[in-house]
Amino acid sequence: MRDGTRAVRAGLPEPVQYEPALPGPVFAAHYHLSGEPTGPYTYGRDTNPTWTHLEAAISELESPGEPAETVTFASGMAAVSAVLLSQVRAGDAVVLPDDGYQVLPLVREQLEAYGVEVRTAPTAGNAQLSVLPGAKLLWMETPSNPGLEVCDVRRLAAAAHAAGALAAVDNTLATPLGQRPLELGADFAVASGTKGLTGHGDILLGYVTCRDAELAARVRKWRKVIGAIPGPMEAWLAHRSLATLQLRADRQSANALALAEVLAGRPEVSGLRHPGRSGDPSHPTAAAQMRRFGCVVSFVLPDRDRAERFLAALRLVDDATSFGGVRSTAERRGRWGGDAVPEGFIRFSAGVEDTEDLVADVLRALDEAGPQ
Ligand SMILES: *Cc1c(COP(=O)(O)O)cnc(C)c1O
Repeated sequence: MRDGTRAVRAGLPEPVQYEPALPGPVFAAHYHLSGEPTGPYTYGRDTNPTWTHLEAAISELESPGEPAETVTFASGMAAVSAVLLSQVRAGDAVVLPDDGYQVLPLVREQLEAYGVEVRTAPTAGNAQLSVLPGAKLLWMETPSNPGLEVCDVRRLAAAAHAAGALAAVDNTLATPLGQRPLELGADFAVASGTKGLTGHGDILLGYVTCRDAELAARVRKWRKVIGAIPGPMEAWLAHRSLATLQLRADRQSANALALAEVLAGRPEVSGLRHPGRSGDPSHPTAAAQMRRFGCVVSFVLPDRDRAERFLAALRLVDDATSFGGVRSTAERRGRWGGDAVPEGFIRFSAGVEDTEDLVADVLRALDEAGPQ
């Protein structure tokens, strides 16, 4: 089965006469339950049938043909924290990327407050290998946000296992249609479903998928303890959105590549990155492990003013954070602080607009933003 077919049917229950194909959201704090309190549905913080369908769907996408378990969360950060905080103990060492998602430094503070040693290294050049010995868990983010560096998941996961460590990949940017970390050897595929997975910029969601039932059970128990559960409405909307994942991912990555190609020809643009572009330093590794290269393009304009004028001149692109949505967005990443990026650094997320319209809007905005 191919991606589009899998995405459109993923997680659907067996057909039931007179029932919808995708059952509606189940709003329940508790369920009818007499006698012994055994599963499947007892209390709403532990289980919900709407999650069950969505979790089955994500498992099919992250691990087609091989059984896997998914645990969904209220946000991507809830999922990230669930893996890190449920798997490590005081005295353990964790390897994080030093160029990953901007909340990771706060996670680091929390881990250190619990007595966990945190080591960091860049994503590029598989540099995390050098700090792996003795670690309990290796956290990869590839492609990294916002720098779009890529590491070799097969190689790093194998090295982690050889060193007795678990390997997790933040798969937010790629989505499971872009890469499947579990097939590349990782123990955990973790992602924010807020971005490309659901793709409409209207819900927050996160998930963790693993093939090992014991690891999944620990993550599930963590969700019960911390209570960072997805709302049923969000879970249902997410499942509904999966049906168009392949259409969105294909168009968005094609738009991103088209933009990267025209940006490459502009003299005011430097530091252009997109893992799908041949010539990009990430491309050889990305091509060996990714099936779609994602919707994000990053580049640098000469200074902050020029970047702000460019963003203001765009008509089809919203100046907003986040990425992966059907409507293109772009932002000057330096406004947040935290990421080590130049003042003129733009993170651009290509939506599903017609390629010609989007490219024309970007070129016009570049022209309006200043002399070449
Ligand atoms: C957005 C993001 C997260 C966090 O997801 P939320 O849903 O915002 O909590 C984690 N990792 C990456 C790479 C992200 O882009």
